[in-house]
Amino acid sequence: MDLKSNRTSPVLTDPAPMNMSTLGMHSTRLPYSSPRAPLCPGLTIPWKKTGILDDFRSSCWLDAMKSSSPPPKKITKAVNNEYASYDADVAYNAWMVEYPSAIASFEKITDQAKGKSIALFLDYDGTLSPIVDNPDCAFMSDAMRAVVKKVAKYFPTAIISGRSRDKVYEFVKLKELYYAGSHGMDIMGPVRQYISDDHTNCVRSVDEQGKEVNLFQPAGEFLPMINEVLRSLIERTKDVIGVNVENNKFCVSVHYRNVDEKHWKTVAQHVNDVLKDYPCLKLTHGRKVLEVRPDISWNKGKAVTFLLESLGLSNCDDVLPIYVGDDQTDEDAFKVVREGHQGYGILVSSVPKASDAVYSVKDPSEVMEFLKSLVTWRKSSAL
Ligand SMILES: [Mg+2]
Repeated sequence: MDLKSNRTSPVLTDPAPMNMSTLGMHSTRLPYSSPRAPLCPGLTIPWKKTGILDDFRSSCWLDAMKSSSPPPKKITKAVNNEYASYDADVAYNAWMVEYPSAIASFEKITDQAKGKSIALFLDYDGTLSPIVDNPDCAFMSDAMRAVVKKVAKYFPTAIISGRSRDKVYEFVKLKELYYAGSHGMDIMGPVRQYISDDHTNCVRSVDEQGKEVNLFQPAGEFLPMINEVLRSLIERTKDVIGVNVENNKFCVSVHYRNVDEKHWKTVAQHVNDVLKDYPCLKLTHGRKVLEVRPDISWNKGKAVTFLLESLGLSNCDDVLPIYVGDDQTDEDAFKVVREGHQGYGILVSSVPKASDAVYSVKDPSEVMEFLKSLVTWRKSSAL
């Protein structure tokens, strides 16, 4: 992740999204040699198969996989050296100067919110729920659910997740919220008064409660392709112990958290082998997960803008959007809230990390504390 940050603390950098352009190659310049016609909605862009390129892509991916979310506790434990632990603390504290705690800075944040409406955007995995070995078991606690329910009573609140919208709703189970799944490519939000020409995939629908909503799926035409890729990835990786291929509707997530590190290259190779037939899909790296999704100009940041528009809160000086997330894919949203809407991104991280967020919290328990403080502040300011 090249954030061009001018901050000076030692930081970890997340890997950048990998597609052909990041490898210095423009897809349209590659001569066709694939034996099968790639299924690209509105596109016929081939991928040239060469062993050298495959090796290069796989090795880039492997490097990115290795740098993805190194667990600080394991590093400390493995080194088993109190000086290493001390150094980690020093580095974290130095980083905190540049990404202050949202809890310690709470008064500063609420000072900025005076006279404004707060709109809240929350990632799910690693933000509201802990990162766990089995992604199907990333449950949020009842205490967290109760706090999110309360916060949504006072502020418009949306969950923006890489999971499918249905899956994240199953975890959260709060009808008071708006949900954007598949990294914002599947949004169920409030009925928009105005739909711009840019959003032709936005249709009126009804939710489970019969309430009228807008459904926006900017990558709708990719669905058959994504399903095909899902089947291929399941088949290709079936013999790799520990790999988990997850269907997130407009995105396929290949989790390698439980795969022995010596087999990560095999995982990267399998994903590479499948992806090379689909040049209009791209790969992004999350925390021990490779994510395959449509290579369209849409991300969590665009989803934030879309939801603010839907809520009638865009182009308003009296709105303060706050986005809380832990992953590389949340960076697009941090940038949008900071640059486009004078809001704040809050990065959830227990290790120094380059980010476009303004503040930080250490883990989901601190996210809960921050949300609780927002509720208390809103209640007291209403008196
Ligand atoms: Mg996350």
